[in-house]
Amino acid sequence: MRFAELADVYARLEATKARLEMRHLLAGLLRPLKGRELEEALYLSQGLLRPEYEGVELGVADSLARRAVALASGEEEAAVGRAARLSGDLGRTAEELLGRARRLAADEPLDVRDVYAAMRAIAAAAGEGSQEQKVQRLVTLLGRASPLEAKYLVRFVLGTLRVGVREMTILDALNEAFADGSKESRLRIEAAFNLSSDLGLVAVTLAGGDVAALAKIGLEVGRPVRPMLAERETTLEAVLERMGGRAALEIKYDGLRVQAHVPRDGPVRLFSRRLEEISAQFPELGPELARAIRSPPAIVEGECVPVDLDTDEIQPFQDVSRRRGRKHDLAKVQEEIPVRLFLFDVLLADGVPVYGLDFAARRARLEQLVRPTERVHLATQRIVEDVEAAKEFLDESIAAGGEGVMAKSLKPESAYRAGARGYWWIKYKRDYTVGLADSIDGVVVGGFHGRGRRAGRFGAFLLAVYDPAKDRFESFTKVGSGFDDAALAEMPHRLERWASEEPPANVASGITPDRWFRPGLVLEVRGAELTLSPVHRAALGAVRAGAGLALRFPRFTGRYRTDKGPTDATTAHELLEMYRKQVRQAAPTADEDPGAS
Ligand code: ATP
Repeated sequence: MRFAELADVYARLEATKARLEMRHLLAGLLRPLKGRELEEALYLSQGLLRPEYEGVELGVADSLARRAVALASGEEEAAVGRAARLSGDLGRTAEELLGRARRLAADEPLDVRDVYAAMRAIAAAAGEGSQEQKVQRLVTLLGRASPLEAKYLVRFVLGTLRVGVREMTILDALNEAFADGSKESRLRIEAAFNLSSDLGLVAVTLAGGDVAALAKIGLEVGRPVRPMLAERETTLEAVLERMGGRAALEIKYDGLRVQAHVPRDGPVRLFSRRLEEISAQFPELGPELARAIRSPPAIVEGECVPVDLDTDEIQPFQDVSRRRGRKHDLAKVQEEIPVRLFLFDVLLADGVPVYGLDFAARRARLEQLVRPTERVHLATQRIVEDVEAAKEFLDESIAAGGEGVMAKSLKPESAYRAGARGYWWIKYKRDYTVGLADSIDGVVVGGFHGRGRRAGRFGAFLLAVYDPAKDRFESFTKVGSGFDDAALAEMPHRLERWASEEPPANVASGITPDRWFRPGLVLEVRGAELTLSPVHRAALGAVRAGAGLALRFPRFTGRYRTDKGPTDATTAHELLEMYRKQVRQAAPTADEDPGAS
């Protein structure tokens, strides 16, 4: 397929916000493709070269891309820089400059496969002279590209192409292109994606067979599974009721979720909640897991928390986040901030998939599988059948350093549901009992200039929640408190790569910040209560026509959720649930309110 066809579809995708139309456009694009070409077109359209978990990066900085555009268009680099600052998008600048430049007619139009191969080569270039190689490859590509193609090539290398085409839209498009478009097929396609985390693999399997062929996609050690997620409740009574009166309660450890892949031979690999490989961050866990797991290959999940190895006490989470991104002094950090992994689930044991078993059966397999070591333990668990016992366990959990309890359904249908949030797992945190239930993970979509002491930098940020159905980010609060000077000083750097001259197409807000940001950075905030708002767009109209939800008195907790991508942020639906639970608490029914009788 010609790359021009892809670029043409991107242009049309960009021009629409309607998800249905996006799906048609994508389905039309993908339908004629198969095998390698399908996979490559799909990854390119996601702004990727390989499934996200492989972490393949192009390693192209803005300056490098600017130089390539200058060389390809015959302009001065400084002029390219100025034009890009004006347009706010080097891709668009490339389109304009190449449109103006008098170039020889390209006699060799670009194919999708050429582009993909060149991008792989750009990603692979490393070491001495690699920057120059990357520039040269890019110049060659741009030399063969039409202005429109150049726009998307540049956006691709800068990592700014991803707007719009989200995973869920692609799953819809695959259903339309290669299956019957029914709900049933859509569920099976999504299930295959949840197990493999690889849209390319799902697409190629589907295109090469039919929906039934997806059953071939199973677990593979080294390929992360999208994690099962929990719903929340605000009372233990409600938790037990949801679970049918009987549940397994576990300590809710406050740390980093880790999915460990333990092969029969070779190194153990660890993945974060958002499926990034984090093996290098916890080098001490791999060998210890290899000893702890009796019968590999295995895939297990747990929460990694800092502990004091002398007293066995759990330490505050902030400690473990200090280990993120530390590469050089890891040996020292390992000593300073020792961690322990509390395992709570198993998906593959002795090479046999067990994710389809009910939770009690999985826990039994986990207990057989794991021989606890100093740094690898099992999550503390107790089966409870009444609220008194649940309260007792909660107290014990808090005393042991947990932040609450995780309740797990013991019903026969309690299989591990990859990628799904449901009431099979319910999180209950101690502080649900005061003020507004949970913390909220919001995506930064805007910044406001500070005043007074904060003049010259951002003083507050516009935050949004994610609506998967609409595939957009909806504002719910403007947060300024909770940032100390150091945090405020570093925010511009953290946000730089997401800056956008225009309101991003997938952001909805009635407020215009001084600076827009494409959804990327996730922050944890707390607040006093959720109210209705005429200017925020979260869950717009769900409670009252024209009103969205807003968080009052928001405060940044200091926790950057780098383990979450923007689509992993709190959803509009969750915010609505939190709003409803809060309303119910504030206005007890006659039954609950002793003062009413
Ligand atoms: P979520 O993962 O639900 O999107 P989150 O990342 O903000 O939300 P929490 O709301 O604190 O996390 O709760 C869910 C997380 O709790 C799980 O993803 C997991 O990392 C962690 N956790 C701690 N202890 C357990 C346990 N015993 N069983 C399952 N998960 C646990």
